[in-house]
Amino acid sequence: MNALNKKTVEDIDVAGKRVLVRCDFNVPLDNGVITSDKRIVASLPTIEYLIRNNARVILCSHLGRPKGEFKSEFSLAPVAVRLSELLGREVKMAKDVVGESARSLSASLKDSEVMLIENVRFHAEETKNDPEFSKKLAALADLYVNDAFGSAHRAHSSTTGVADYLPSACGYLIQKEISFMGGALENPKRPFVAILGGAKVSDKIGVITNLLNKCDTIIIGGGMAYTFMKALGYDIGSSLLEADRIEDAKKMMDEANAKGVKFLIPVDNKIGREYKPDTESQIIESDNIPEGWMGLDIGPRTQKMFADAIQGSGTVIWNGPMGVSEWENFAQGTIAVATAVANSGAISIIGGGDSAAAIQKLGFAEKMSHISTGGGASLEFLEGKELPGIAALDEK
Ligand code: AMP
Repeated sequence: MNALNKKTVEDIDVAGKRVLVRCDFNVPLDNGVITSDKRIVASLPTIEYLIRNNARVILCSHLGRPKGEFKSEFSLAPVAVRLSELLGREVKMAKDVVGESARSLSASLKDSEVMLIENVRFHAEETKNDPEFSKKLAALADLYVNDAFGSAHRAHSSTTGVADYLPSACGYLIQKEISFMGGALENPKRPFVAILGGAKVSDKIGVITNLLNKCDTIIIGGGMAYTFMKALGYDIGSSLLEADRIEDAKKMMDEANAKGVKFLIPVDNKIGREYKPDTESQIIESDNIPEGWMGLDIGPRTQKMFADAIQGSGTVIWNGPMGVSEWENFAQGTIAVATAVANSGAISIIGGGDSAAAIQKLGFAEKMSHISTGGGASLEFLEGKELPGIAALDEK
């Protein structure tokens, strides 16, 4: 599969057709009130394109984990209301997913009209990718568009199975993810620098292994860095350690060496006595962390070393914070890296989760080329894995 070769919404003739669009409307709700409509806003370009081009738009999504049965607190009805305000037109809400209400609404839909079916996870068959359920979803429409990148690493009926029964394409959100991340992996502007942080090495081994074949420099920060330091024989005190990953860490550093990839790990750290926001702290060299202390952020020399490596790069991919960035006392490393990425002038791609949150909080979002909408999905994409929700779509 070449993800860059997938049909987009602009490659299919949508006029007068019923188009089933898988969106990511998995919004945070508080007592039925949407507390952030970011995901709904993100879906607008594809929906508005379809409306402008006279499609009959049938939207679907999951919301939370209703575990295969109707539960009113997981209804998508509040999304229909908010979406209709954003679009400035009615969004008809079906009472079910593939039942009488959804079928009759979709049959009576006129050109440029929009409807939303209920939460696909009200049916247990959805997450099992059940062919009969996929067929029922497909029967609502003539064409299928997937725009839910955050769910594209899941082979479910509405993300994958339905594409077996309908001509398909990706929407603008998925297209943007593919073009930035796929572009970086296939043909990066060099030097290509990857920055990986966060708590666990085990989560990132696949990504590092794949990027060792693509990048010029790999930067490691965050809690996972201490397993690498341990692999070099350093004392790491009570810092985070995955003892069963020390061998993997060694292997990755050896492979980087053999391939001529620069592999940077912290040379100094901000360490704390306890895992607490206001714990006593000091700056210390990486090979000298005292017993009873833990590394909670990268130190100032490391910040400078990482910033120097980022400056002048052509492409930067960043996933995971450099320290416990939720705590002001240990956020400086993440802020320094965010600032360096923002000022680098490189094509900058930010994985979901904490690094995206840090970028947003600092007001740097506008300076980034792309902030991924899917944490898990973007990691799997960077691992070089085929995402079922993208693989299932028709090629150009
Ligand atoms: P991840 O979900 O793997 O991207 O990890 C993010 C989490 O890693 C955040 O909650 C951070 O607080 C945590 N983290 C980053 N650096 C450290 C560290 N040095 N020690 C403990 N936790 C860390």
